[in-house]
Amino acid sequence: MTVINRRTFGKKLTQGMVGTTLLAGMPLACGMVSGQQEKKLGIALVGLGSYSKGQLAPGLVNAEHCYLAGIVTGTPAKEKEWMERYNIPKANIYNYENFDEIVKNDAIDIVYVVLPNSMHAEFCIRAAKAGKNVICEKPMAVSVAECDSIIEACETAGVKLSVGYRMQSDPYTNEIKRLVREKTFGDVHYVSSDAAYISRGNPNQWRLNHALSGGGALMNMGVYSIQSNIYGTGTNPISVSAQEFSTMPEYFKGTDETITAQMQFPNGVVGNLFTSHNANANRLFVNFRKGWAELNPCHSYGPLAGRTSAGNEIKFPHQSQQMLQMDDFAKHIKTGSPNLAPGVMGKRDMIIVEAIYQSIKEGGKTIPLDLGTMGIVS
Ligand code: NAD
Repeated sequence: MTVINRRTFGKKLTQGMVGTTLLAGMPLACGMVSGQQEKKLGIALVGLGSYSKGQLAPGLVNAEHCYLAGIVTGTPAKEKEWMERYNIPKANIYNYENFDEIVKNDAIDIVYVVLPNSMHAEFCIRAAKAGKNVICEKPMAVSVAECDSIIEACETAGVKLSVGYRMQSDPYTNEIKRLVREKTFGDVHYVSSDAAYISRGNPNQWRLNHALSGGGALMNMGVYSIQSNIYGTGTNPISVSAQEFSTMPEYFKGTDETITAQMQFPNGVVGNLFTSHNANANRLFVNFRKGWAELNPCHSYGPLAGRTSAGNEIKFPHQSQQMLQMDDFAKHIKTGSPNLAPGVMGKRDMIIVEAIYQSIKEGGKTIPLDLGTMGIVS
């Protein structure tokens, strides 16, 4: 974490101050100086593609605990537009080559890696070595081994690490978690989650290039379905079996088009996963002993919608999920509040992803999972 001294604190205050009444009375986290809680943390986005441009940067405009302080881009033509739109000083602009110099920049507290999946590990590790807290987009990496190296680099550097799981900060998701935790309708015995969208644009896009994506629909949307199966049951799966399908094999040559998987949970509870790059589906259904709850849509940017068997609509005011997610991580750094999507959660999901691909390779064989000691169950 960037050390805040009087000089840098003063500078940061002018860049983005949080209302002091908001944070007044909050306990100080161990090792924090008081000023660090009262300022907004500076985020640098690495990779200015559609997600950074359309969701993350706009989400940061109204964030309470963080702001867009810098950018890292391989496309010089984007610099001017971003500098003007978000009031970013030239000193806070980097490219992929000089990125490591960010170590000297006190205005940047968090580096958010929003690059193609196979580039996550390299840039998260470089960010950690530069002493910056890290947010790594989902899927965390293209293998469990890479997840381990990101986690290790952050631990060694003593910086915080989070995965870009925006749903963990979303109120609809948290309402499902509450119904599961409080057993409002009794125990869960079946969950079904679909996460899919039609992605048939440019056949040369990185998402269809295995070397850059690490996989297709499962790596892209399937991780949402894995996540919602887990928070829909409130527990980690103990095994998984999976199947792959394709109606357009000539287009989806290098990556999976459609995957279904069945996750077995303790006590005979079962979860169904459907993910695809060639269908639209966006739903979570949780069946309890005495009722059910449904979110539809469930994984998109919102507004989401939900209902339960009791006739209740699940409804919350719409807010940017990305804003909530980045604010939650900034609060975690500033106050020691829980990290809602720690690196180990991204690693757990990658263990499940690898098991799903293994099952497909072995003709749908059931692959046992040993996630019991990971301590992450939602
Ligand atoms: P994108 O294609 O729109 O942007 C990718 C960015 O990476 C571009 O700025 C591009 O210039 C840069 N880049 C650098 N090297 C590249 C290379 N070799 N090939 C292609 N691009 C290269 O992608 P995106 O939709 O912004 O996705 C980026 C990351 O964000 C992915 O990991 C994706 O899974 C994740 N994402 C997450 C969500 C979410 O809801 N959490 C949504 C969208 C994307």
